[in-house]
Amino acid sequence: MAINSKLIPDLIIVDYSGAIYSTLLQLRNALNLNKRVLLLMFTITKEVYFCYGHRLMNHSGKCRNLHGHSVKAAISIQQKQLNDQGMVCDFADIRDCVEAYIDDQLDHNFLLHKDDPIIPMLTANNERFMALDEHPTAEVLSKMIYQHLKRAGFDVAEVTLWETASAHACYREN
Ligand SMILES: [Zn+2]
Repeated sequence: MAINSKLIPDLIIVDYSGAIYSTLLQLRNALNLNKRVLLLMFTITKEVYFCYGHRLMNHSGKCRNLHGHSVKAAISIQQKQLNDQGMVCDFADIRDCVEAYIDDQLDHNFLLHKDDPIIPMLTANNERFMALDEHPTAEVLSKMIYQHLKRAGFDVAEVTLWETASAHACYREN
């Protein structure tokens, strides 16, 4: 752990220790100090691509119609320290974890709110779909992917889902 506030008087840089970072933040806030506390962190990002169909029931525009997307998800993993190989983790480990989930749950699936009136027809015709408690937006899908990786033990910084080339949603928990 290293703390250096000599060169930049209004900045405290904390290396390695998240506990020290939290303590410094609390101290700064308690004493009302005019200092920024910066935690050094490594982040890597893996991109994966998949397709899904959905619709947004309460949308006032064309998103209320049945349609599909070919999307990119960018998964960022963070660590304060690198492992013995000088890495946050292996990109392949992220890929294996997220692709298994996406292949099983999301890719080429039809994602619907659980109250969507089309569900009985899909069920009657033995069509594949997934009913969600929330509306199947890019925001909700990025949260689902984030939470899967978190359950698998990854220290996820954020998940960004690009629904089109010009529109993306991001989920993080800090
Ligand atoms: Zn859409």
